[in-house]
Amino acid sequence: MLEQKLNAFFGDDQPTGFGTGWWSGVLSAFFGLLAFGAVVVLHFPQLLSSPELRPHYPMDLMRQLIQAVIVGAILLGLVSAVLRRKKVLGFTGMLFALAATLLGGASVEINEPLHDGMAIGLDWFLLDLLLMTLIFSPIEVLWPAYPKQSVFRPEWLLDVVYFLSTHLPIRITTILILLPATQLVAVLGNAGLQSAVGSLPWLAQFFLAVLVADLAEYWIHRALHEVPWLWRFHAIHHSSKALDWIAGSRAHLVDDLLIRGLMLIPMLFLFSQSIITAYLLFVTIHATWAHTNFGPTIKWLEPFVIFPRFHHWHHTSQKESIDKNFAIHFPWIDKLFGTYYYPEGRWPDTYGLHEEPIPAGFWGQTFYPFTRRKAA
Ligand SMILES: [Zn+2]
Ligand SMILES: [Zn+2]
Repeated sequence: MLEQKLNAFFGDDQPTGFGTGWWSGVLSAFFGLLAFGAVVVLHFPQLLSSPELRPHYPMDLMRQLIQAVIVGAILLGLVSAVLRRKKVLGFTGMLFALAATLLGGASVEINEPLHDGMAIGLDWFLLDLLLMTLIFSPIEVLWPAYPKQSVFRPEWLLDVVYFLSTHLPIRITTILILLPATQLVAVLGNAGLQSAVGSLPWLAQFFLAVLVADLAEYWIHRALHEVPWLWRFHAIHHSSKALDWIAGSRAHLVDDLLIRGLMLIPMLFLFSQSIITAYLLFVTIHATWAHTNFGPTIKWLEPFVIFPRFHHWHHTSQKESIDKNFAIHFPWIDKLFGTYYYPEGRWPDTYGLHEEPIPAGFWGQTFYPFTRRKAA
């Protein structure tokens, strides 16, 4: 297993708290890898950047960001190398930062005119990984619901592979997700309905969009649980035995396409492009947050908006809460449809599938729904 080899190569039995050189080493290696990846994208922008994102990049800012990540990797690597007996983490970060610099660093020019076409979303993977890590990792480290759970808990690498698998083919998945909804709306769309919704204040439109999307997601999600052949895809998402923000990205491609593609159908009928874009941004953050290992809560708000503890009960392997809590934004939707389970103040004891063995690796899980179920 690659994960065990990585853990053994980089890890040691020293303490990992603040001031031990552990976090500076981890961050140095992380920044080093990001910087190296970003410079490679600058060298091959046609192949490695998403055509959808390219026109929106403020390039001066992106170059400053790459520069900052290179400097960060070197400084944190130095700190780690001074503080920690095992220097591999810090040296790895510095080595990647050095390689990124030797390859031209943040100032690599883009000379070719870029055109539309198939591309790999390495830019999107690196940027979203950095963004999500910056938003969610600090709150998980500082205020965890499960303090004993490490950032590098078992199967962390598998979830990074899933994160990679949903970001690199962004070009193909965007087309697949948009295709059914846009075709349907082109045939059945009603301009009057859309402009009626569009005349509402922006905030009202946005709230309505979250509500419509959550109602759609509730029923799609519930179907994924209750229709046996659909469950075989969704079971992958439920195979995580511990939750944190990146565990949320573990999903079979078919599961991901179904939820996002079907949810868009009512959205495209009712809302403008800007509202839908705002919603997509919101759902990325809220759905990821629902998986975090983050303990604090605002008690009076819990019945109205989903906090991590609510979705964690959706992921438990404990019998009392199986097939409960399907909503992703509003818990009261589950109350409305009789699938609400939210015992006060408690977190689940165990996570994962209830008596359903599934393969361990990415490819095994990808092919799992298509394999014949063994007779009991
Ligand atoms: Zn589920
Ligand atoms: Zn989930």
